[in-house]
Amino acid sequence: MLDGYKNSQPIVYKILKNAILNDKCSHAYLIETGGFYDSMGFTMAFVKSLLCPQKKLNKENCGNCHQCEVIDSGNFPEIEIIKPEGLWIKKEQLQNLQKEFNTKALIGNKRIYIITQADRLNKSSANSILKFLEEPDNNLVAILLTDNIYNVLPTIISRCQILKLKATNISKEALNEYQKLKQITASKSNLEDDILNQKIEKTIDFVNYYEKYHLNTILYINKLWNEYITNKEEYLISFEVMINYYKDILNYLLNKPLEIFELNDNIKSIAKTNNIEEICMKINKISSLKDLIKYNINTSLLMDKLIMSLEGVIK
Ligand SMILES: [Zn+2]
Repeated sequence: MLDGYKNSQPIVYKILKNAILNDKCSHAYLIETGGFYDSMGFTMAFVKSLLCPQKKLNKENCGNCHQCEVIDSGNFPEIEIIKPEGLWIKKEQLQNLQKEFNTKALIGNKRIYIITQADRLNKSSANSILKFLEEPDNNLVAILLTDNIYNVLPTIISRCQILKLKATNISKEALNEYQKLKQITASKSNLEDDILNQKIEKTIDFVNYYEKYHLNTILYINKLWNEYITNKEEYLISFEVMINYYKDILNYLLNKPLEIFELNDNIKSIAKTNNIEEICMKINKISSLKDLIKYNINTSLLMDKLIMSLEGVIK
């Protein structure tokens, strides 16, 4: 339950706990998940706190009552989770949701819909939920999640209470790097675990290869990349993995603890051949290409473009 996040998310915990105990919950939250690896776990804990019939009787905790168990099993009918279908959250997904909420009778005390990656709401899908967000219904709570609030449309932001999760202090977490990367990327993919692991591994191999052979990497891009990373969803995951890899190399250069990866020889040798500015530049270039992927850029020459851009051959 929410109490499990008392230490890792002290501020947001306090805000939400107060709101729940005083029945002063907002009707729409936009949670910026930032670097917090367990943002979905946090969200579901919040949802349980909203719905659990014991929340007032037992101030400390629940998670054990029948309702909480059904929520954990993913079969609770008053919770809807909307994820992007393909690159965007589609207007039809939101219209279906509203239709469903309008026709079904309310069983519990509240209905909750969660929109993961609210930055993937484009103008037309956003418009279709503005009304929902504008006309608060006491029985309805919207929880929108995003990695980066700057990518969310202002019309959405202005109608939500904003909560910002604190980045994870990973040194306390006993997760390995794959588990951490999975937490970061998993909410965005329907890939099986071992397939996702393979994509992550191939992405890291690619960066390690590139850091050794630079422009020549283009010659082997089929073997290194195209055989494994094929559609836009996978590109988005891989680009996110690359960004996190370089961020940890940056941490190493700054003498800070690594957040995701275990320190290894590859990281050390990349840190030897790059300075802080170069790594920051690389993170920026990868991030801006990643944004282009969302906007339907053709991926066939994207990796050539990435390599040339990292090498400074093109802007
Ligand atoms: Zn409960």
